[in-house]
Amino acid sequence: MTVKQNLLNLDRVGLEAFFADMGEKPFRATQVLKWMHQMGVSDFDEMTNLSKALRTRLTEVAEVRVPEIVFEQKSDDGTYKWVLELDGQNRIETVFIPEEGRGTLCVSSQVGCALECTFCSTAQQGFNRNLSAAEIIGQVWVAARALEGKANLTNVVMMGMGEPLLNFNNTVTSLNIMMDDFAYGLAKRRVTVSTSGVVPAMYRLAEVSDASLAVSLHAPNDELRNELVPLNKKYPIAELLDACKHYIKDEKRRKITFEYVMLSGINDSVEQAHELKHLLADVPCKVNLIPFNPFPNTQYKRSSNNAIHRFTNVLKEAGLVTTTRKTRGDDIDAACGQLVGKVKDKTKRQLKQLYPDSHEVGLLEKSSFDRLSVKQYSR
Ligand code: SAH
Repeated sequence: MTVKQNLLNLDRVGLEAFFADMGEKPFRATQVLKWMHQMGVSDFDEMTNLSKALRTRLTEVAEVRVPEIVFEQKSDDGTYKWVLELDGQNRIETVFIPEEGRGTLCVSSQVGCALECTFCSTAQQGFNRNLSAAEIIGQVWVAARALEGKANLTNVVMMGMGEPLLNFNNTVTSLNIMMDDFAYGLAKRRVTVSTSGVVPAMYRLAEVSDASLAVSLHAPNDELRNELVPLNKKYPIAELLDACKHYIKDEKRRKITFEYVMLSGINDSVEQAHELKHLLADVPCKVNLIPFNPFPNTQYKRSSNNAIHRFTNVLKEAGLVTTTRKTRGDDIDAACGQLVGKVKDKTKRQLKQLYPDSHEVGLLEKSSFDRLSVKQYSR
């Protein structure tokens, strides 16, 4: 039996190639994009502006398969969390955060995560695999349907489970679909990729996407960042900031957002705020402080409101736009760093084996990632 092509894996360029292979005109791509993403249609028979013959052929060779909602939770503050079943084995979580006049969807890019940031619960569960583009954009698809008539999805942040830039191609395809006027039509400033700092991939992203970039900084110096974000040993702060400056070099993209988790007694002193202010003095940016969200067995504590306030003041006095992320959805474990899903087969594997995609392997070899391994997860 031939495997059917899931058309959710394809952006406009991919769909045009798909239809060209079938001897069809390129405009079929935009027609089908609209049906899938704007109308939420997954049955080719309902795509009435395609000929009957084309619909029949599509049914034979293709499908529109979205992740399945296992359950939906709604927080007291209006935040939604969906647990999605992918392949009978793995589950991921997607979160929607409604705010005054807008609504932000937080999507996952991998099942688990291979990086070992010490303050993140996703890291504790190890890594299974990259999500396909269909599984990434499928989260937007599912949320857009579930929210119909209830709330407006205006922004997407790739801040769920996983490191999007270690799933580069599928992330970029998904970003393209989010920003395509024939699909979700989101403006580039409303689509944000968050990275822990995979420097070579940041340069590549600058070539192919206009999405906004958020960088998980979390420390004002290498010594502390090596501890909190072990990836820093590979790509230290100076290299990371160079990549940030490169990303916003041309006018298309304006500012980097630096995320900084507030950990009591670890990275939240006034001295550290001064250090941070000097570090960021020549990077067009804003700083988003994230009060730490606890999870079982963590050694860290959330900074006090006073500490956050003092930290903010130092940055603001230096002219840095600084906001504190409001904790949302923590009553349903939907807050930053609390997403766990269900990761099947968390065997210890080297990153090279984890990223068989040649593109990613190239990236890893260039940067000799082999030091990193995946933590065994047992619970
Ligand atoms: N891997 C990407 C995207 C996922 S995390 C990245 O590192 O940017 C999204 C944001 O939540 C990151 O800034 C991450 O550092 C932060 N985060 C992780 N765990 C957290 C926790 N327990 N409390 C608060 N923020 C956390």
